[in-house]
Amino acid sequence: MAAVDEVVHRGRYAPSPTGRLHLGNARTALLAWLYTRQQGGRFVLRIEDNDFTRSRPEFEQRVYRDLRWMGLDWDEGPDVGGPYGPYRQSERVELYARESARLDTFACVCTRRELRASARRSPGGEVIYPGTCRQRPVEPGRPAALRWRAPPGVVQVDDLVHGPAAAVDDIARDVGDFILRRRDGVWAYQLAVVVDDAAMRITDVVRGDDLRFCTPRQVHLLRALGHPAPRYAHVPLIFGPDGQKLSKRHGAPDLSALREGGATPERTIAVLARSLGLLPDAVPAIPARALLARLPPVFRAPLVDRPLALAALR
Ligand code: GLU
Repeated sequence: MAAVDEVVHRGRYAPSPTGRLHLGNARTALLAWLYTRQQGGRFVLRIEDNDFTRSRPEFEQRVYRDLRWMGLDWDEGPDVGGPYGPYRQSERVELYARESARLDTFACVCTRRELRASARRSPGGEVIYPGTCRQRPVEPGRPAALRWRAPPGVVQVDDLVHGPAAAVDDIARDVGDFILRRRDGVWAYQLAVVVDDAAMRITDVVRGDDLRFCTPRQVHLLRALGHPAPRYAHVPLIFGPDGQKLSKRHGAPDLSALREGGATPERTIAVLARSLGLLPDAVPAIPARALLARLPPVFRAPLVDRPLALAALR
């Protein structure tokens, strides 16, 4: 009998170690973990230190401590290994070089000023690359970014939270040839994330809503490389009363501060879960694993997004 290739749910959390995890990161991690664990899937922790100019080992160590303190666990990751490693992007650059070599790319020496002068902007205000370097010969050895000659075609992305057509783009028209490697040698998030999600066989991506606008270009890249696209769920960010992303300015502690200040993980999990309407207000504290046992499947019903009861954490 032919072997049946069982499709296993594989989810991931992929933080960039460029700062401390805040409560918004924690809520996204919790949802990604809950969803994967409910499906009986494998949960991958990938450290996205592709930008070596901003990543710090100290923040990576805090990621492990903070997530474990919350009661989350992972089956694969830099600290536990796994079959699709390495799980740190700084150790995967050869793969990015190999995959980008399969794409139609060109070297770009446009300066910021040249790009800013370009009249075309996306609805989100981003510069649409005017194609200046498509035909411009670049002397060898001159520092240059690497851009993808994005083929035309409309990409529409369904989303477990936002429904069908949650993000639509004609990449060639609305974004332009985008960067795969920056001039300073940093592999761009768009390429690294796509190569890694495919290589690590990720089937389900749960991440913050601030990345929803990138998803069509990632799906476009995945298709060009011949990889299947995962399912996506873009979950709400946490905002302060002033409508800005929740931060220290609002008196919101980061996870390390909570952990080091003696807050309990059970109270923290309860506050996060209550803000999503996943737990009644009467429950003041719950371990992540117990939450798993009592929840209906996340994303089956619309997510609620309520202000965090920060006072309960003090
Ligand atoms: N590394 C990204 C971040 O920390 C997340 C990337 C993703 O989930 O696709 O914002």
